[in-house]
Amino acid sequence: MKKFIPIAEPLLNGNELKYVQDCIKTGWISSRGKYVEEFEKKFSKYCGCRSGVAVNSGTTALHLALASLGIKKGDEVIIPSFTMISTAGAVVYTGARPVLVDAESKTWNINPDKIEEKITRNTKAIVPVHIYGHPCEMDKIVDIAKDHDLYVIEDAAESHGAEYRGRKTGGLGDIGCFSFYGNKILTTGEGGMLVTNNEEVAETAKLLRDMDFDKRRPYKYIKIGFSYRMSNVQAAIGLAQLERVDKLVKIRIKNAKIYNSLLSDVKGITLPPEMDYVKNVYWMYSILIEKDFKVTRDELAKILGAKGIMTRRFFFPMHKQPIFSRMFSGRYPVSEELSKKGINLPSAATLKADDVKYVVNSVVSC
Ligand SMILES: *Cc1c(COP(=O)(O)O)cnc(C)c1O
Repeated sequence: MKKFIPIAEPLLNGNELKYVQDCIKTGWISSRGKYVEEFEKKFSKYCGCRSGVAVNSGTTALHLALASLGIKKGDEVIIPSFTMISTAGAVVYTGARPVLVDAESKTWNINPDKIEEKITRNTKAIVPVHIYGHPCEMDKIVDIAKDHDLYVIEDAAESHGAEYRGRKTGGLGDIGCFSFYGNKILTTGEGGMLVTNNEEVAETAKLLRDMDFDKRRPYKYIKIGFSYRMSNVQAAIGLAQLERVDKLVKIRIKNAKIYNSLLSDVKGITLPPEMDYVKNVYWMYSILIEKDFKVTRDELAKILGAKGIMTRRFFFPMHKQPIFSRMFSGRYPVSEELSKKGINLPSAATLKADDVKYVVNSVVSC
C-alpha cells in the first residue's frame, strides 16, 4: 500500500468515546450538560485562568472576545500581517479596522518593536498570534498595551500548552482565544474557548455567546448576541483530550526534535524558531526553503505530495489578500518572505519516529 502521511490528524484514544457515549445515552447533546462547564473549568485552569467560555470555533472565540470588550466600528485593532485569516476576520465582524504589523524574522510572530508606530487615538487592542505554536514576546507587548491603555487578546489557536517564561499562553493578556478544530493540538472536532482572569468579561461573554439570554430576565434582551455555543458532545471530546494534553504536547515536541536533528545540517533549510525563554509546542513543524536548496518550495511540496506526504504552504499575508487589497498601506517584507519560503511538514500526534525519518529522507533526497 502507498504510504500516506497526513499533515495533521486527531488522536482520540483516551476517554473520548466513553464520554461521547454518555452524552448520547443521557440525551444531553446540546450546550446544556455537564461536560461544557467541566471542560471550561479545567481548560481555563490549565491555562492559568479563572474563567473559560466554550464556543463553537476559534474564530468565534476571537469575535466574542472583541465584542465582550466593547470593540466596535471606529476602533482599530493591531494584528500581525502574517497570520490566518480568522484573526483579521474577527476584527472585521465587530466593525473595527484591523491594523497590520509585520512579522519579525527571529520568531515569525508580530514584531513588538513595530507596534507602537501603528497606535493611534482609535487603537483599542493588540491581538498577538503565537504562530505555529511559538509564543510571542509577551512582556514587550503587554508593556506597550499598558502604556497606551489597550487590551491584549492572545490568538492562542495554535499554541495549547506553549509557555512564555514559564507561563502558559492564553493567560498572558486580558483574554486568550483557542481553537479546537480537528487539526489543532487539542481538538473537539470543531470548537473554541476564550479564557480570562476577568470574571466580568467572562460573564458578558457567556451572555453574548447565547444571544444575550439571561436567566434573570428570560426572553428580555438588552443586546443582540450570537449563537456561538459549544455542544456537550464537543466538550466531552475536549475533556478527554485535556486529560492527555501533556502527552499530546510531548509527542509534538519529540517529533520536532527528531526533525531538527536530522535537518539541521541540510543546506538551504532554515529550522523553526525556538527562543530560549519559550516552550514551543510545534503545532506545525515548519521550515523555510532558502534559495540555495536543491529545489524551490513549491517543487518540494509536489515531490513530497507524490510520495504520500501531505504538506501546507505558509499563510498568505493579510495585506496581500484579495479581500483586503485596498485596506492596507505600508510594507510587510518579513511576512512576504515567510509566505514565499515556508512549508509545514506533517506534525500530527499520530506521527511515529519512522514517519518523521521517511519525511526527512524524502526532503533530503529530492
Ligand atoms: C485555527 C486558527 C484560528 C481559527 O480557528 P477555527 O476553529 O478554525 O475558527 C484562528 N487563528 C489562528 C491563528 C488559527 O490557526
